[in-house]
Amino acid sequence: MGFMNGKKALIVGVASDRSIAAGISEVFAREGCEIAFTYQNEKLLDRVKKISSKLGQNTDLIFPCDVSSDNEIDSVFESLSKSWDGLDIIVHSVGFAPREQLAGGFVESITREGFSISHDISAYSLAALAKAGLPMMEGRNGSILTLTYNAALQVVPNYNVMGLAKASLESCVRFLAADLGPKNIRVNAISAGAVKTLAAAGIGGFRKMLNYAEKASPLRRTVSINEIGNTAAFLCSDLASGITGETTFVDAGANIMGMVFDEE
Ligand code: NAD
Repeated sequence: MGFMNGKKALIVGVASDRSIAAGISEVFAREGCEIAFTYQNEKLLDRVKKISSKLGQNTDLIFPCDVSSDNEIDSVFESLSKSWDGLDIIVHSVGFAPREQLAGGFVESITREGFSISHDISAYSLAALAKAGLPMMEGRNGSILTLTYNAALQVVPNYNVMGLAKASLESCVRFLAADLGPKNIRVNAISAGAVKTLAAAGIGGFRKMLNYAEKASPLRRTVSINEIGNTAAFLCSDLASGITGETTFVDAGANIMGMVFDEE
């Protein structure tokens, strides 16, 4: 029996089997959680279906959801409520900025439109999902989890406007946690180390970020999506019942380093 037995989770953000959300799904399933999924667009449906089926989940519980659309967000919960009488967990593993925002200097790359899109998709969508999911989550031990990155706190080359969006996302976690705490819904973030995924491939010089993480983190390596999944499962389970509003690093310790010299 797993430590998430009897839990029901909606996972938003699977695009491939390398997605952080795929690693989280695998661990949730291992720990006995039932999972419903969303997919951003038709191109991704087959991949999400494959992952759902591989994990022994009900492939009828896969819904379209582009988070820029309030209608699509609302209809996910409308459809889900026909099969489930409640929801314990929402995982938000979504981030996007137009590619040209994620290369070159900050001042050179940033635009009003780029700012608006990146904040809408990467930060507002967490609040939007929490708002729409609330009626299904009330009256249980609810938990909402999102994925952030250390560029919310420290400057990382090329990450540019996404750093601002992640800072907004982390603040959103705290405001949601304060507002939803009295309803017994916890809200947390994992600040993940660099992982090679589709979203990451859009960041200029991402390979250098991976190399740096291997060199600079105390554990001298990057993290796997299953390691992130293990922490996600803990945070979304009743084992973490006293934790809300927190950002937990799963980055092989990289964030603690103030400076790293090339090894002699
Ligand atoms: P990924 O490409 O596998 O996942 C990103 C997901 O965002 C995809 O499923 C994509 O469909 C979804 N998405 C983008 N725009 C959307 C929209 N309009 N509507 C609905 N869904 C949309 O990459 P990932 O690295 O697994 O990213 C997941 C989260 O983890 C992101 O928030 C990312 O910023 C964060 N993160 C990633 C890393 C890393 O190095 N990969 C590190 C820290 C945090």
